[in-house]
Amino acid sequence: MSNVLLKVDKVKKYFPKKAGLLNKNMSYVKAVDDVSFEVYEGETLGIVGESGCGKSTTGRMIMRLLEPTDGSIVFQNVELSSLSKTEMRKARRDIQMVFQDPYASLNPRHTVKKILEEPLIVHGIGNKKERQNRVEEYLEIVGLSAYHAQRYPHQFSGGQRQRIGIARALMTNPKLIIADEPVSALDVSIQAQVLNLMKRLQEDLKLTYIFIAHDLGVVRHISDRVGVMYLGRIVEIAPSESLYAEPLHPYTQALLSAVPIPDPTYQREQIMLKGDTASSIPDTGCTFQSRCPYATSICQTKVPELVEVKSGHSVACHLIGEQQ
Ligand code: SF4
Repeated sequence: MSNVLLKVDKVKKYFPKKAGLLNKNMSYVKAVDDVSFEVYEGETLGIVGESGCGKSTTGRMIMRLLEPTDGSIVFQNVELSSLSKTEMRKARRDIQMVFQDPYASLNPRHTVKKILEEPLIVHGIGNKKERQNRVEEYLEIVGLSAYHAQRYPHQFSGGQRQRIGIARALMTNPKLIIADEPVSALDVSIQAQVLNLMKRLQEDLKLTYIFIAHDLGVVRHISDRVGVMYLGRIVEIAPSESLYAEPLHPYTQALLSAVPIPDPTYQREQIMLKGDTASSIPDTGCTFQSRCPYATSICQTKVPELVEVKSGHSVACHLIGEQQ
């Protein structure tokens, strides 16, 4: 097993919801609630779940764009919360993000050259000529051309813009890239090209990815391991092969049943979940109880712990983990 690059330990992010008189009855939205996982050097960890499950909030806490309410995030053996603003800015050289909507994340008034040069200037990397060379080199690495440097974001297609977003993330030679729904805004035909590009870059540049998506189908071919989140908690985490071959948590089973199968002769019944995440937040017990077809009385009172049931495959469900 490779070295641990990132360790997220019991991390929480609670947002205040409403305050009673004198703030005595403050209640919170538990966007992320007691999330722990490790990311190993050179791997891709997929994090999957519906909108509002806390996956993007987790990514933003790793970048310290959001401060955790509690817990620890250790990157390259350094506790990120202990870093000053200046130290954290330096650490961000090694952790970069690729965003869902490349158009919104690229300044429309700047040329591609200016967009790609910016992280180098922020981190004091290279002189003018070196920066120019690096911009041209990375445009070619992501499948564009040096002459694209003088163009503006609106002059590119969605797929090309995401290539620019990826190039920007690579400019500082990061170790970890957090890709937050990087292909969700793209046509299906373009998604595969961008995923293949990311996979090739990972091999060539020895990158480590956290790949956030709402669809298990998208992360399947790029992830070594996948964590499934539901309402702020990881409910299942496993090596990809194990998770796709034998999903254990009822929520993972439902998500996976919605992923199309390329073989038309194979029929799989889609599991339809009742309700939605927003209307199903219980005060106690398993967060999935109101939508789960297998819920029993214990599910209403006791939060299931994430328990390893076979090598590297952990699940948080009273039906499975605690019987082992
Ligand atoms: Fe369903 Fe209970 Fe398992 Fe939660 S703990 S997923 S409610 S069976």
